[in-house]
Amino acid sequence: MTTPALPRLSDLENPREFTARHIGPDAADEARMLASIGPASRRALIDAIVPPSIARPAPMDLPAPLTEAEALTELKALAGKNRVLTSHLGCGYFGTHTPGVILRNILENPAWYTAYTPYQAEISQGRMEALVNFQTMVTDLTGMAIANASMLDEATAAAEAMTLAARVGKSKSTRFVVAHDVLPQSLEVIQTRAKPLGISVDQVHATEIAASLAAAPAFAVLLQYPGVNGQIRDLRPIIDAAHAAGALAIVAADLLALTLLTSPGELGADIALGTTQRFGMPMGAGGPHAAYLATQDAFKRSLPGRLVGVSIDSHGAPAYRLSLQTREQHIRREKATSNICTAQVLPAVVASMYAVYHGPEGLTRIAQRVARLTAILAEGLKALGWTLLHDSAFDTLQVAAGDRRDALMAAAVAAGRNLRAASADTLAISLDETSTRADVEALWAVFGAAAGDTPLPSLDAYADTVAPMIPAALVRSSAFLTHPVFNTHHSETEMLRYIRALSDKDLALDRSMIPLGSCTMKLNATSEMIPITWPEFAQVHPFAPADQLAGYAELNAQLTAWLAQATGYKGISLQPNAGSQGEYAGLLAIQGWHASRGESHRNICLIPESAHGTNPASAQMVGLQVVVVKCDANGSVDLDDLRAKCEKHADQLAAIMITYPSTYGVFEPRVRELCQLVHDFGGRVYVDGANMNALVGLAAPGEFGGDVSHLNLHKTFCIPHGGGGPGVGPVCVVEDLVPFLPGHATAGETREGGVGAVSAAPLGNAAVLPISWMYIRMMGAEGLKAATETAILNANYVAARLAAHYDIHFSGGIDGIQGGGVAHECILDLRPLKETSGISAEDVAKRLIDYGFHAPTLSFPVAGTLMVEPTESESLAELDRFCDAMIAIRAEIAQVESGAWPREDNPLKNAPHTAASLVSGEWTHGYSRETAAYPVASLRRTKYWSPVGRVDNVHGDRNLFCSCVPMSAFESN
Ligand SMILES: *Cc1c(COP(=O)(O)O)cnc(C)c1O
Repeated sequence: MTTPALPRLSDLENPREFTARHIGPDAADEARMLASIGPASRRALIDAIVPPSIARPAPMDLPAPLTEAEALTELKALAGKNRVLTSHLGCGYFGTHTPGVILRNILENPAWYTAYTPYQAEISQGRMEALVNFQTMVTDLTGMAIANASMLDEATAAAEAMTLAARVGKSKSTRFVVAHDVLPQSLEVIQTRAKPLGISVDQVHATEIAASLAAAPAFAVLLQYPGVNGQIRDLRPIIDAAHAAGALAIVAADLLALTLLTSPGELGADIALGTTQRFGMPMGAGGPHAAYLATQDAFKRSLPGRLVGVSIDSHGAPAYRLSLQTREQHIRREKATSNICTAQVLPAVVASMYAVYHGPEGLTRIAQRVARLTAILAEGLKALGWTLLHDSAFDTLQVAAGDRRDALMAAAVAAGRNLRAASADTLAISLDETSTRADVEALWAVFGAAAGDTPLPSLDAYADTVAPMIPAALVRSSAFLTHPVFNTHHSETEMLRYIRALSDKDLALDRSMIPLGSCTMKLNATSEMIPITWPEFAQVHPFAPADQLAGYAELNAQLTAWLAQATGYKGISLQPNAGSQGEYAGLLAIQGWHASRGESHRNICLIPESAHGTNPASAQMVGLQVVVVKCDANGSVDLDDLRAKCEKHADQLAAIMITYPSTYGVFEPRVRELCQLVHDFGGRVYVDGANMNALVGLAAPGEFGGDVSHLNLHKTFCIPHGGGGPGVGPVCVVEDLVPFLPGHATAGETREGGVGAVSAAPLGNAAVLPISWMYIRMMGAEGLKAATETAILNANYVAARLAAHYDIHFSGGIDGIQGGGVAHECILDLRPLKETSGISAEDVAKRLIDYGFHAPTLSFPVAGTLMVEPTESESLAELDRFCDAMIAIRAEIAQVESGAWPREDNPLKNAPHTAASLVSGEWTHGYSRETAAYPVASLRRTKYWSPVGRVDNVHGDRNLFCSCVPMSAFESN
């Protein structure tokens, strides 16, 4: 007998091991899948499907992959280049203690972070309850009637408030007045957004706004409460003056301060907005955080963003759902109230849970402590001889520093603290929940040293005597957060179980595949997630001095270089904090370029009918006029129609926005020709990169004719969907458009082209960027290409297995490929079955819940269809479980077709079945309880029970209710 050869050490040190964890099928699975599809190899399949005309000439130039442990070590070293100082910078970003129970069980828990946007209401009841808590928290604290969940950041919320006011206000004026003390980043984003819409923005000192409005009309005013430098002003006279002058009043307010201050609603505001960051979300160099927007009742149908409402289910019990979706971009397109799609659901859930955990008394105590420490800090500074500019404050003081401003800031940095330059000769100091007595004393020491020999004050002497600097006329008297949910879960045990009870109601990737076309619900690996709560990434302020953010600068440089390899573009900005924002920034770049050539009159944007709703909505926001281009029977853009439209609008053509592969899941073979045609007519080509999961490593939009793309890092590059956000939507451009990428003057980044900021922070949702960094670093060029190819393989396997049972819409009809050949997703056409059985795509979607699946994308991009995108991360076993369910459902439809089951009373129409509906009362249906609950044997091992029956959409919109349900509503059921 011979001894087996010793394996080589290098084989034991497999640097590709993460790739095998990320990609579901192994080599044996792949062979079996190919056998049912047809082609002999994965290569042959890809060659048959991806047009050779777009193939990359060279592989991506990326560093060789690292293992999970190695990548974490390398990233930790990079993170260490950030310096975490105590922040007194304020300006919309504050230190906060994320309660451990929320940190571990929400922010770091895949049951929450891997969930999808709650379009399928029945399997999203847990997160929608948390979002209704968020909306209630906002309406209670702001004193407004209705709030959404959520906005992307405070600055974009301020800009959305401006456009909301322009839409709903009665004034014909195009002038928008902004108080002198709003957050500078909000002003910057407002200026960016106002320009293409022809709105003029005037910054006016708050004390002069009334007179200014009397002299020249405006459609709205924006006030900050408290002001950026701490002052708390009675806004009533300004709001009254605004109303008298026919303008709406918008108030940007700090939620923690509102526990102590008269609410904007009580002051008469029409719209309130702000960030919820300090409710438990770390500063994270600027994001992700949920912002809020709340209005009076009259404007509810014009509110941008998502709104969770309460309806009833098929058994009459209360059930949550997304309300008033007809306002949203996916329905109203260029007439939508905004382009927001992915929002900030996970941070909104964190903020709402912070309020649930602390309750009204806990929040008030935190706020009182901040206000007291601030007042004590003020007394001590005055005793040291410093002059304060305001006699009111919540958490921020403005100190006259004269010519010692810079010396004081430097001394503070030497003491491990950041102060903010509030003007040429003043400094601002902010405290927060994390501030301590020792912090106050350390600040006195910094200012004391600068003041000379004056002895430092004694904190004990002030502790019980100094009152908060809240003006008496503005002390809050109204109650808030009175609903039981905010007054029950205050022990950690209760809180833990509340969080668990909610997540148990939901289906996320930790339980089942989520085969959503266009949304790429792939693995969000734990190693990718771990770095986001490292203090070096999480605890830094976006406007800290650049040398303290060197780690982020390097992360930015590396990640943009790698994404440039993947896309073929030359310049990338990570600032946009969702795909929609990337679209907006990309269209601004195109506009900026046209303007730089004296061609500002180019204002037509061609958009194929297959486009995602954000495309026309974004075009509208930059003032472009949308012209729809037809698609042909194969799902490709109709090039004859395109030529005709180009000719017709030759002088005014600004751009075309296409998605590649298209939202129909088609690799249009003539895409190069399409791009050339638009270029010939002087337009630029925007390639929506949401479907990059079909391209990475195979083809690059920047090489086949695209001029601009956005990526969705929360789709292709592994940032989890978070139940509807956060996202990152980098905007990527070719060389001549680089000068027109977004800048950020507040953070000291200005660009020649003059396109301003599009987000509150220079790196947008900075704190989640490490996720995509880890993914690329662990996959390498080969691994990423294998992922793309497997995504296409998996989609074709599903198409091949289901082709005998369902019509595959827009398949390529390629010989030798069972199912005809699709890209990374396939569309199942259920319209013929509706004819023969009355069963709709929605019925199938709901029946899939009984089988333990999240439904595919319903009725997008084609009504009456389901779009399935399995992604590379799903194993063959899971794909088979899904295909088996779809095939079993087809057999159920056949029972309806044959008349064995009535058209209106069958397992599909009655889906999803709750446990209660099976055990209570008499069973009157023509199918068994068995069939209802356990239609396939594997469900006996693991069964997901829908917490509610089918949710009534019409009832919800007719009886709009968007806050916490009174407990009595549950008792009656
Ligand atoms: C998801 C998506 C978008 C919008 O991206 P968000 O991050 O949700 O704003 C745009 N286009 C397509 C094709 C998409 O799938």
